[in-house]
Amino acid sequence: MAWLRGMLSVRAIIFTSLAALLLSTAPAAVQRGGPRRPAVLVVRDVTLIDGTGAAATPHVTIVARDGVIASIGEAGVDVPADATVVDGAGKVAIPGLFDAHVHVTGSTHAAAVDELERALAGGVTSVWDMAGDARMASELAREASAGEIRAPTVYYVALMAGPPFFTDPRVLGASRGFEPGTAPWAQAATAATDLPRAVAAARGTGASSLKLYAALDGDLVRRITAEARVQGLRVVAHATVFPAKPGDLVDAGVTMLAHAAYLVWEGTPASTDYTKRASGDFAGVAPDSPAIERLLASMREKSVALNPTLWVLGERQADDAVNRARTPWMYAVTRRANALGVPIVAGTDGLTDRARDPLPMLHHELELLVTRAGLTPMQALQSATQNAARAIGVEGVRGTIEAGKAADLLLLDASPLDDITNTRKIHAVIKDGRAIR
Ligand SMILES: [Zn+2]
Repeated sequence: MAWLRGMLSVRAIIFTSLAALLLSTAPAAVQRGGPRRPAVLVVRDVTLIDGTGAAATPHVTIVARDGVIASIGEAGVDVPADATVVDGAGKVAIPGLFDAHVHVTGSTHAAAVDELERALAGGVTSVWDMAGDARMASELAREASAGEIRAPTVYYVALMAGPPFFTDPRVLGASRGFEPGTAPWAQAATAATDLPRAVAAARGTGASSLKLYAALDGDLVRRITAEARVQGLRVVAHATVFPAKPGDLVDAGVTMLAHAAYLVWEGTPASTDYTKRASGDFAGVAPDSPAIERLLASMREKSVALNPTLWVLGERQADDAVNRARTPWMYAVTRRANALGVPIVAGTDGLTDRARDPLPMLHHELELLVTRAGLTPMQALQSATQNAARAIGVEGVRGTIEAGKAADLLLLDASPLDDITNTRKIHAVIKDGRAIR
C-alpha cells in the first residue's frame, strides 16, 4: 500500500485509517446504491502507456471524477481538495486489461463472483463471456456495474448454432428450464428459423454480440449475420462452424473469429461434423498456404479480428499427437495474421486457473502472444485493451486511458514495453476510478 503515500488531500490528514481513506467520498460520488467511492481520484506523476499505440509519456497526472477520466496532463496539475491522490512516481499506468474470451457461468453464482474478484485483483478489469447462461452473465454484469460485487465489467454473447450442437452438456447446462435450442441465449437455427424473431430474442438478453458456434452452413451464416446487422447486433464466431468455413464467416461479415487453430479448416474440404474442430489437417495445410493467406488478407481488409486463444489450445492440452501438430501451426498462423495487420484480440477461454498461476491466465496469454506469435509488447498490450474494446464495440467507453473513458487502469512497477511479463508486477488496480488493490 506504499502507493497511498503521497496523498495530499485534507482528508488524508484528517483520516488516519486506510479504510477511511479508501471510502472517503463526497456525497455526489455515491452511485446508484453501490458502495461509495472517491469522487476524485488523482494519479500523480506516472509514466503513461495509454493503449492507443502512442509511446510512453513520463510525468503524467491523471484525474478521474466519478469513475471517468476527466483530464490527463502534466504533473503539476491542480489537485482538488477532496481528491484521493495516488503517487505514481516510478510507476507505469496501462489501461485495465480485457480477457476477451471467458466462460464464467458454468458453475454457481458464488463461484463466478469469486473468480471475477480474483481476476479483478489480478488486473483484468473487463471480461467478455463467450457463451454460457446469459441469465447469470446479465446478473453478474448488473452487480458489477452497480458496485455490488468487486468484479471486472462483464460483457457477454448470445449463442446460435445448428440443432446437432444442442446435445452438448455445456449448452444444456447453460439453458436449464428451456427445451434445448429454445433459450434466447442458446438458440438452434435452421433454414426454417424465423431469423428476425430469433435475432431479436438474442438481442433481448442484453448480449453485446451474437456468437455462431457450430453446425451452420454458409448460407445460414450469411442470413443470420445480415439480420443481426439490420438489428444492430454484432456477430462473432468460432473460427469455423462446420460446414461453413472461416472464409464464409468473414464474407458474411462477422467481426471476430475465435481460436486461431480452427483457421486450418479453410484449407480442406468442408466437414459437417463440428466435433472434429480441434483436429484438422495441420500437416497438409501450411499456415502460409494460399488458402490461409487469402483468408488472412480478407480478414485484414474487413477488419475482422482474430482471438487466438493460444494457451488453452496449446500448453493447456495434453502432450499428444494432435496437439504437437496444432500448437506450432496456431502460433505460426497468429504470427502471420499479426504481421499482415489482422487485429489480434487476447482471450484465454479460461480466465483463471489457480493450479497453474496465481494471476489471471491473461498475463500468460500476453506472454505467448509475444514469445510465440511475434507480437511486440505494445501490440500484445493493445490486444488486451484497445483491440478488445473495439471487438466488443465499447471502444468509446473503455480500452484506452483517455479523457472521457472509464478510469480502468493498472499501475505497474515496471514497463510492459520492456518485458511483457511486467504486466504481472501490479502495484495497484483502479476500477471505475476506485482503487481496488
Ligand atoms: Zn470458449
